[in-house]
Amino acid sequence: MRVLLLGGGGREHALALGLVEDPAVEALLAAPGNPGIAGVAELRQVDPADPAAVAGLAVEVGADLVVIGPEAPLVAGVADAVRAKGVPVFGPSAAAARLEGSKTFAKEIMTAAGVPTARAYTCTDAESVGRALDEFGTPYVVKNDGLAAGKGVVVTDDRDVALRHAQECGRVVIEEYLSGPEVSLFVVTDGEAALPLLPAQDFKRAGDGDAGPNTGGMGAYAPLPWAPPGLVDEVLADVVHPTLAEMRRRGTPFAGLLYVGLALTAAGPRVIEFNARFGDPETQVVLALLETPLGGLLHAAATGTLAAHPPLRWRDGAAVTVVVAAEGYPATPRTGDVITGADHPGVIHAGTARRAADGALLSAGGRVLCGTATGPDLTAARDAAYALVRGIELAGSHHRTDIAATAIDGRITVPD
Ligand code: AMP
Repeated sequence: MRVLLLGGGGREHALALGLVEDPAVEALLAAPGNPGIAGVAELRQVDPADPAAVAGLAVEVGADLVVIGPEAPLVAGVADAVRAKGVPVFGPSAAAARLEGSKTFAKEIMTAAGVPTARAYTCTDAESVGRALDEFGTPYVVKNDGLAAGKGVVVTDDRDVALRHAQECGRVVIEEYLSGPEVSLFVVTDGEAALPLLPAQDFKRAGDGDAGPNTGGMGAYAPLPWAPPGLVDEVLADVVHPTLAEMRRRGTPFAGLLYVGLALTAAGPRVIEFNARFGDPETQVVLALLETPLGGLLHAAATGTLAAHPPLRWRDGAAVTVVVAAEGYPATPRTGDVITGADHPGVIHAGTARRAADGALLSAGGRVLCGTATGPDLTAARDAAYALVRGIELAGSHHRTDIAATAIDGRITVPD
């Protein structure tokens, strides 16, 4: 199988590592890729969000499967254009990707499907914003209605901060605050059959102890020792299957990766958000533990044959990833600094580039690298991930020092 992978972040580097491990994948091409992905794939230059250009490239390289990593190409209709050329593609249509592209649409689907989620209002003017804030009270949750690279959400007790974010976004979803530990559950689906991956937890805030602004994600671990035993089955029955059924009923089946972001509240699991693609950095830990060949799994989802796919197999133990972020991330990340110490197995490239003159590795994004490791348990995996991070030198960089700490110390409790 010849596979074309779209994207160039940490998620795509993790996907690339999984794909080349699959004996059925005889060639991996990536566009645009990054210096880490270049170690395992042939890179091509294309604008990943240009449907015609990507479909043309898929045909040119004789791809048997196109895997779309990021959300922007999905929302732009890249999966539709590739499918129209008769090439199997892992990633939903533009119509189905609205589950991520519009928070209002996602709420509509959840309401129609009876999926448990936070009560919410969509607001476009200061008066309705004020009313919604007052109805739900603190902490205020204000979300940009459109794509915002994981940074469109403000959770705050300060009414002025909430009002300002709403004003800057224009159209926002304001919702009730959900209290409880968060879980990311990835589900591979062909629109009908659904195979859940291991639940993971990510760390959205920039600083230790969940201080500081929201980011795209500063680290992750899996599995979750504190998760209730029936959690995945409950989420499949109450969230995933009703959502897939509602999308089919509307004539826009969702095939690809349904990312369910949940809060485990006292009233049960509640959906915080849907995404239409693998999450970053949870993908790094989930795929590190997946033993089932990744190419075959994604191909089955892309060709509507997932019901016949064997059950997933997982490695024993645990995985932890720690993001090394550039100075100034998330507000104003500095790029162009030289990186050393990234040349170790387990160091995933998220925002890097090669200097043309001498091939030196440079920072090229807010999240630069992820130290990713497995081990017999969470403590061992965490220690190995931090050993990788300590070996990386990047001027001004920062990382959280508490990834997986509360889980290891048994400090996470699910309210009942
Ligand atoms: P989202 O982009 O919707 O995943 O939101 C980013 C982060 O904001 C989530 O991971 C949560 O930590 C937080 N968040 C979003 N919505 C809520 C909510 N209704 N209640 C509590 N926290 C929330």
